Amino acid sequence: MSLSQGRQYLAIPGPSVMPDRVLQAMHQPCPNIYEGGLIEMTHSLIPDLKYVAGTVGHAVIYIANGHGAWEAAVSNVLAAGDTVLVLATGRFCVGWGEMASSLGVNVETMDFGGQDAIDVNRVQDHLRADTSGRIKAVMAVHVDTSTSVRNNISALREAMDASGHGALLMVDCIASLGCDEFRMDDWGVDIMVSACQKGLMTPPGIAFVFFSEKAAETRNNMERVSAYWDWNPRVEPELYYQYFCGTAPTQHLLGLREALDMIREEKLPHIWQRHETLANAVWAACSAWGQGGPLLMNISDPALRSRAVTALAIGAPDGKRLRRWTEYQAGVTLGIGLNMGTPEDPKADGFFRIGHMGHVNAQMIMGTLGSIQAGLIALGIPHGAGGLDAAAQALASQVPS
Ligand SMILES: *Cc1c(COP(=O)(O)O)cnc(C)c1O
Repeated sequence: MSLSQGRQYLAIPGPSVMPDRVLQAMHQPCPNIYEGGLIEMTHSLIPDLKYVAGTVGHAVIYIANGHGAWEAAVSNVLAAGDTVLVLATGRFCVGWGEMASSLGVNVETMDFGGQDAIDVNRVQDHLRADTSGRIKAVMAVHVDTSTSVRNNISALREAMDASGHGALLMVDCIASLGCDEFRMDDWGVDIMVSACQKGLMTPPGIAFVFFSEKAAETRNNMERVSAYWDWNPRVEPELYYQYFCGTAPTQHLLGLREALDMIREEKLPHIWQRHETLANAVWAACSAWGQGGPLLMNISDPALRSRAVTALAIGAPDGKRLRRWTEYQAGVTLGIGLNMGTPEDPKADGFFRIGHMGHVNAQMIMGTLGSIQAGLIALGIPHGAGGLDAAAQALASQVPS
């Protein structure tokens, strides 16, 4: 007998759970795109996006997913023949580098492996050795969704400054924005990319690029930038259609407006704290289960873990069996292991990920963890006792009585 009837729950690291408020805001006929409320509403998104990013710099919106934001960022500041330094801590920064490479940019990669964060001292040495200023930009991912590592971006900036190198700092916050604490200006980030379908709780389809004055200058010194990705007309559009280089993504904007209202209502410090507390509950359960079985969190140091996603190893084929069980027997979809394949386990069937980003609360997390524990029991996968108790304890200790 399956127990999956009821509301299906998506516990993957994006798209995340879309709030009913957001979906209902989108459920409207297309508004007038020439004048009226839509125009004012679109203007109102920009300051709120900057609030979420922690910047007084610039923000532009693209009709795209995260990959589009990657290409947009690269297209505005890097030309064929330029060199970037990619700081790889998982699949995503490598992917961003591949996108730059496809545009003719030379990519130098420093690989920190799949279970660790960026070693900023190594970056500092590497930049210091670049006396000719070959490296035009450094690319990093705040939270790499494949490994669930969280890099210390402010320490990276300090290391770059200490090296005396003038490269731009470009950061991917697609998984972390609106989940993990991020402060673009305080941390000296020149370009930050994000997308709407993770911490920003809006169905996939729009993406964002935030940039500093220094990045704006770099753009203005470019010989050419493709018309669609060019951020200049989008920053201060004379005509409404220039915001999006064409028709506005009307329903997505309505959804995003509502999501930003929810973020304003809750406020960022509370959102960060909520994710931290819920992540603590996930880790407490995983760590208890791991005491008596093969389950292992991919990132061992809690300080280096994302508060939005947790990547786990459990041995093939049990990762896949567990995902199947929770989906078909309990109605909870877990994330696949991404880029975790090995010669013994080419399809990464021994891995899975738990998404805990965006519109999540205590009961959603406890329901997910309870379903996982039921799956471990049903499938006869050895695991330590007390996972759910440990999670409940982690939640209770953070919440006032
Ligand atoms: C999800 C994600 C991406 C890719 O976003 P798409 O919308 O799938 O293109 C890139 N980087 C990170 C860190 C992500 O989490």
